Amino acid sequence: MPSEQRMPNLRNALTIDVEDYFQVSAFAPYIRRQDWESAECRVERNVNRILDMLAEHQVKATFFTLGWIAERYPQVVRRIVAEEHELASHGYGHERASDLTPQAFNADVTRAKKLLEDLSGVAVRGYRAPSFSIGLGNLWAFDELSRAGYAYSSSVYPIQHDHYGMPNSPRFAYRLASGLLEVPVTTVRLFERNLPSSGGGYFRLLPYAVSRWLLQRVNRREQESAVFYFHPWEIDVGQPRVPGIDMKTRFRHYVNISRMEHRLQSLLTDFQWGRMDEIFLRRPLPVSH
Ligand SMILES: [Zn+2]
Repeated sequence: MPSEQRMPNLRNALTIDVEDYFQVSAFAPYIRRQDWESAECRVERNVNRILDMLAEHQVKATFFTLGWIAERYPQVVRRIVAEEHELASHGYGHERASDLTPQAFNADVTRAKKLLEDLSGVAVRGYRAPSFSIGLGNLWAFDELSRAGYAYSSSVYPIQHDHYGMPNSPRFAYRLASGLLEVPVTTVRLFERNLPSSGGGYFRLLPYAVSRWLLQRVNRREQESAVFYFHPWEIDVGQPRVPGIDMKTRFRHYVNISRMEHRLQSLLTDFQWGRMDEIFLRRPLPVSH
């Protein structure tokens, strides 16, 4: 059955935002940055589990890795590169781009790129903003990414959401005047709206068959590669529960975490996957903005 659902020629990009559970933006009001040092770190075990799964399925992916994590877990960075996945940047300190000045943003993304390159010995070309925090209010961030030497970004979610989103921006990859490529995470256009279809909490919330249908629609009807994302903590049933958080944050963070690993296995079987750079950096794309 899975072989019938496989798209023979179209590969989708599998992306992992490498950070730990206590660094999630929605927890920022509850966990102080200075407490990160003493929090129980789970990221190494979780990334190793993901790398094992990818090896079983012979899938290569892109790891948008936080500088703060790379500095403390260089062996994780080295394993990602040794197993021929793409090492990319999630910035250094997981501050939303929309909360920073252009100078502070440039300093953060430059620091992360240099750190990842020094640790791995490979060029880092891709960047994803924490919480998809590039939008209409901070389009200057694209210029700063070019200046810092990045070739592409995957930082825009073209949806309406209370924490992020730029609903009217293009749904598929486009080139900015600076030459930077932006590859938005995937949405499906239905009922005159862009529906989130590319991972995160929505993937855990919706039945797997619905998520699969959404991705197939992008591949079949639009003949476009999708960009799917998840986090190492999303497969971690044993992560410490953060106390005192509001109901919405709790629901979004923990919903269906116990089902995530099984669903990822299905996703790896039902679609063809690859690295961002291999799928998007090699083909001509429309210019926008
Ligand atoms: Zn993140």
